[in-house]
Amino acid sequence: MPRYSRRRKIRWSRVLSCAFAAILLTAAVGILIQVSAEFPLSAADRESSQTEDGTVSLAEASDVSAAASATVEKDSLPEGWEWTTVPAETPYTGDLILVNPDYAYQAGSETPVSVLEYKTDSYYVKDRNVALLENVVGHLNDMMDDFTAQSGLTDVLLISGWRDPDRQETLYQEDLEEKNQTQSTLVAVPGHSEHHTGLAFDFGLMQQVEGVGRTYDGTGSYAWINENCQEYGFVVRYPEDKMDITKIEYEPWHFRYVGQPHAKIMNDSAIVGSPICLEEYIEFLKKYPLDGEHLSAYGYEICWQEPEKQADGQLKIAVPSGRDYTLSGDNTGGIIVTAEDTGDGANDDFSRG
Ligand SMILES: [Zn+2]
Repeated sequence: MPRYSRRRKIRWSRVLSCAFAAILLTAAVGILIQVSAEFPLSAADRESSQTEDGTVSLAEASDVSAAASATVEKDSLPEGWEWTTVPAETPYTGDLILVNPDYAYQAGSETPVSVLEYKTDSYYVKDRNVALLENVVGHLNDMMDDFTAQSGLTDVLLISGWRDPDRQETLYQEDLEEKNQTQSTLVAVPGHSEHHTGLAFDFGLMQQVEGVGRTYDGTGSYAWINENCQEYGFVVRYPEDKMDITKIEYEPWHFRYVGQPHAKIMNDSAIVGSPICLEEYIEFLKKYPLDGEHLSAYGYEICWQEPEKQADGQLKIAVPSGRDYTLSGDNTGGIIVTAEDTGDGANDDFSRG
């Protein structure tokens, strides 16, 4: 019967493969013993040639060069990645830099532009000195155009964007004098303000009655902005429930650009549990190093790396080959690589915007 003979065939092939594996294993152990005898390994080397449970795997044993070298593992790259070098300031620039009481703003390679010259008609700008990075203005325009389209309101006022450290020093001193304090909880220490980055801004509201200023508090009709800003790459940087981490009072008017897919991930409970602030997000990304599992979300592959300093001062990091990617420092010494995912079906429908 055909069925019977098929079964017999399978059984024979199993027997053959078992025998073959046994021969291979014997040969491999033999080679390893010989190699060990000829080139006694140091304790460190021996550790690297073993798996976690202490056994020598067949694959490693048959690859004499891997078993004898402890450096191969360290320089290994994930498939489809290659080494490159980047400028020394890379860890301190980019959309994801963390600027807070612990980490001062280090460097600015991009020049902010006057928002007045780039903005659309869906919001106001205090004066021509209010500046942001050009890329940020584009996303701000998109957000405010959509806000106006659904609310009919055009009275949001951009009151503050980029500030140089000298201006911050003035604001800081003014706040101390006004409150007769030695420390300010509202104005960041000069050098430690997000406003130095050109990625952050404050909203106010146009005055309805002359002489009466209105604070933007992100409630009522304006709640739409605070609830949807992540769709445009922005986050409410100092949320009410994160004051113990940010060390800054709740500021519903202060927005920070972090870009995509990061703004969405920070607010995606399915990925991060409950919405997290930038301090927490940087820690979260550190769980996805180059040699570990990478974060895959919204059509992107993300990993965090601690770059290796080269003799010429440049930094060595790994980047995907043949795929678009962006780099951002975290301002704590790390670099975040955000690459287009080649994925295998785990991607969401997400278009770069
Ligand atoms: Zn602010």
